[in-house]
Formats: sequence, C-alpha cells, structure tokens
Amino acid sequence: MLKHGLMMDRPLLLSGIIEHAAAQFGTVEVVSRETHGPLHRYTYADCAVRARRLAKALAALGLEPGATVGSIAWNNHRHLEAYYAVSGSGMVMHTCNPRLHPQQLVYIINHAEDEVVLFDATFAPLIKGIAAACPKVRAWVCLAEAAHTPAIEGVAHIVAYEDLIAPHDDAFEWPSFDERMGAALCYTSGTTGNPKGALYSHRAIALNAITICNPGIICLSTRETVLPVVPMFHINAWCLPYAAPVAGAKLVLPGPKLDGASLYELIESERVTVSAGVPTIWQGLIAHLDAHGLRFSTMVRTGTGGSAMPLALIAKFADEYGVEVRHGWGMTETTAVATMGALTGAEASLGAAERHAIVSKQGRSVFGIEIKVVDANGATVPRDGATQGELMVRGQWILERYFKAEGSALIDGWFPTGDIATIAADGVMQIRDRTKDVIKTGGEWISSIDLENAAVAHPAVAMAAVIGVKHPKWDERPLLFVVKKPGQALEKAEILDFLAQRVAKWWVPDDVMFLDALPVGGTGKVQKNELRSKYGGTFS
Ligand code: ADP
Repeated sequence: MLKHGLMMDRPLLLSGIIEHAAAQFGTVEVVSRETHGPLHRYTYADCAVRARRLAKALAALGLEPGATVGSIAWNNHRHLEAYYAVSGSGMVMHTCNPRLHPQQLVYIINHAEDEVVLFDATFAPLIKGIAAACPKVRAWVCLAEAAHTPAIEGVAHIVAYEDLIAPHDDAFEWPSFDERMGAALCYTSGTTGNPKGALYSHRAIALNAITICNPGIICLSTRETVLPVVPMFHINAWCLPYAAPVAGAKLVLPGPKLDGASLYELIESERVTVSAGVPTIWQGLIAHLDAHGLRFSTMVRTGTGGSAMPLALIAKFADEYGVEVRHGWGMTETTAVATMGALTGAEASLGAAERHAIVSKQGRSVFGIEIKVVDANGATVPRDGATQGELMVRGQWILERYFKAEGSALIDGWFPTGDIATIAADGVMQIRDRTKDVIKTGGEWISSIDLENAAVAHPAVAMAAVIGVKHPKWDERPLLFVVKKPGQALEKAEILDFLAQRVAKWWVPDDVMFLDALPVGGTGKVQKNELRSKYGGTFS
C-alpha cells in the first residue's frame, strides 16, 4: 500500500510570495514609471504594506472572497500591489487588455462580474465609453493620487487609489485557503467570437513563477534586475511580477512608456539585466539603438514569445548587442511559459549561426509541462522534427476548462493549442504556424512564420507578414506584406529574389504589398485577420 508523505500541507498562495519578498528581500527595490511621468521608487517591504492596506480597503468596500476585481492598467507599482491584495484576499484579479474593442471590454467585465475596476488615467476616455454598460462595477479606482485622478463625465464612483487606501493601516492577516482557488483571470483576445476566460489558480501561478526563475528559463535571482515590458494585462506579464519577488530580483515597471527611447533610458538608468517582451517591442528598441549607435551596458538576457522571434533579430541581439535571447512559447491557456528555447551545454558550444537557429525554435517543455503533436485523427506523430500536426499540451498550469464554460476544453486529457508544430528527437519544439494562419497550397502547407522570418532577414525589411489568399488552382497562395525600414528602397522583384534563395520555389509568395505599418493587436501580434479581410481576395 502507498505510504502518505509526512510533510506539512501548506498551500501555495500568492500572498506568501509578497510576504516572502518583504521578509527576505525587504530592501530590494521596485521602480515604477508613474502614468503622469516620474519614476516611483520603493521596496518589496513597502509593497507588502500597501498590498495589505489595499486588501483592507477592498474589504471595506464590501468585497468578499470570490469577488472579481478588474484592472485596465499599465505595469506600475499600484497594479502590482493590487495583484497581491486582490488574489491574496481570496478574490480574483481580472486584468483587462485595454486594446480590446470597447464592446469586448464590456463583455469581459460583465462576464467576469467585476465589482471594482482599477484603471490608469490614460484609459479615462475608455472608461467614459464603457462604464454605463457595466452595471455591476460599484467603484472605478484610478491608480493615482487625487491630483492625477481625472473626473470622468457621466461616471459616478470614481475614487483615487491613494484616497481609497488612506484610511487603512496594514494590520491585516492574509486568509489561508486551498491553493486550487482562483487567483487571476485573463481572457484570450477573441479574434474569433467572444473572448474566453482562463482562471488561474494560486497553485498554477506559483508553480509557473518558481519555474521561470530557473537558470535555464529566464534566470532570476537577487543579483538580477528585471524589466517586464510585456504588459501586466498580457497573461500577467508572463508571471514575472510573481517570479521577481520569489527570487528577490529588483523589479522595474515601465508604465505607459514602451517606445524604444524610453525603454533604453530605463534599462540603462536602472541597470536592468533581464527584460521580457514580445518581438514587436524589441524591434522598436533595436531600431532606436541602431539609429543612435547605442549599446547596452548591463542587459545580458531577454525573454521573448507571444509570436515567433525572427532569426535575424535573435542574431542581432546576440552578435551586435551581447544580449542572449530566451525564446519561449505559451498562451493565455498555459499561465505563461510552457516551453523555452534555452541551449544545452553541447548546443551552446556550436557556432553562432547554429545556436541562433536553435533559439529561433520554441524549445523544450519545462518541467511540469508535457507536449505532443497529433495528426488529424488525434494520433501522436513521430518526434522527427519534420512531421507536423497540432500541438497538444498538458501540465500543472494548463487550463482544463474556460471560465463559466459547461464542459472541459480537453481532448483525452490534453489541451489542443490550435498551433501547428513539430517536435524533434531531442525534444525541441518548433511552431510552424497557427492552424488559422497556415497556407494550404496544392495539398501542402506553407509556414507563414518561416516566410516572415526569411523576409525579415533582408536588411531593408522592418516587418513582414504573410497570409494565404484564395487561388483557383492551388487552393491558397502566399501574399507577403512588407514594411520597409525608414529611408530604405526595396522593389518587389528584389525581395522575391531574396526569398527564392532561401525557401523552396513553391513557397515564394505570388505577390508583395508594401505597407506603411502592419496592424498590430493588443498583445503586440500582427492582426492577420485584418490583413485577410482587407487584402485577402483571390489570386487569378
Ligand atoms: P491570442 O493571440 O489568441 O490572444 P495568446 O496571447 O494566448 O492568444 O497567444 C498564444 C499564441 O501565440 C500561441 O497559440 C501561438 O500561436 C503564439 N505564440 C506564442 N509564443 C510564440 C512563439 N514563441 N512563437 C510563435 N508563436 C507563438
């Protein structure tokens, strides 16, 4: 008969993370860009005190465990305090993506049943447009002092965060409860249909946070200073606001200033060693460095994901700027990181081009997560790095069912990701495309990601996107969109010729369109559905 282990049964709760940081790393700094401009600076000990005060303030508003609190906010210290105050009290922190269509915002606020919404002054016009349609919200709390809290015409119950917590001291005991209770809620961006909610448990977030501190993942410790550029409304900034206090790393929060110049200045002035963000953000940062001949003096590592990091950008970061790219894969349904492209010792000793090629894949699943690729009949395909199919995932921080959904989202215990992937014998997974973006041509598949990567390698190309356009003979054919770097000339024939030397002949796009910009969505991804609806007619 199995024997019970005889260890304490202490739940993994998020309140434990901020109290750990306050007690062990009480003097480590949290630096935050205020929405109205200046930098705010305090410590994990200060953060914990204010989180307890906010917990008391929310209780005084009549919110009970199980209630949901929304946020429409940048990465800043008050948002961080709310992460801990809300979840630590047994309530659910619902981070809303401000770039959702206002109707979708209304939908998710009502679907989540948010009773209070925290917002940054930037989003006052948004609040004005949606407040009347959110009847359950009893207070709109501006993450600021009264002096920076705007009056919003037609919206009652606006309160400044500082006024809300002012009457409360920090004499507060965090409740203890089952670690499987909901802590945070994030909705998918709902490119088709309404957004769907992923309700993360305390256990899932804590395990993910502990995991990403690992040297093989993003590598956080007391010696690091970490800058999550990925927004706190995008899958909880990939759990970095939980991981940094687990590790005792200094945390730098960029507020609303996400342009290349502001990020560079912050990285240098705060001596950031590790950052994390989507590839489009890094493209802006690198363009700024290129244009001004700048170098990083402390940053050595950056985590990226959310869409494929182009090989050319990985190489540029590493070879020109001395920054190692850690390329991960995950989705709203996986509580952030599920696979990570860190190199083994043997891989690390390969030449630069080979190393970058490995990093451009999405890597191995981290401990706690299992992956497999299945064919159209659900049969597992071989791990040969060539046979592609749908990526399936299961593990300790993977969604089982969507918030308020009747049934499970799983197929035979695995979550179907909607991504097309291959897995090699050494475990390295590569995302080939999303099911809805893959280009089906003459019975074969073309990976839009591979084509985009190849196009971005051209020195005149800033950004590229490829969609499938209907074709009478071939079913679909690729159409390439290119945004040129400022001041660069590039003709259609030149880019097609460049691609012809790098991809199979039948992969070369049938046409190229030069655009001033690509439509980018709320989480920094190119909105291919917009390109499809605007330009996706039929090739003749
Ligand atoms: P959505 O884009 O639908 O709002 P998410 O933000 O949850 O949803 O994004 C998840 C998707 O992003 C994945 O299913 C995958 O298609 C894509 N993705 C995430 N990381 C990577 C990566 N490193 N490379 C390629 N695609 C990625």
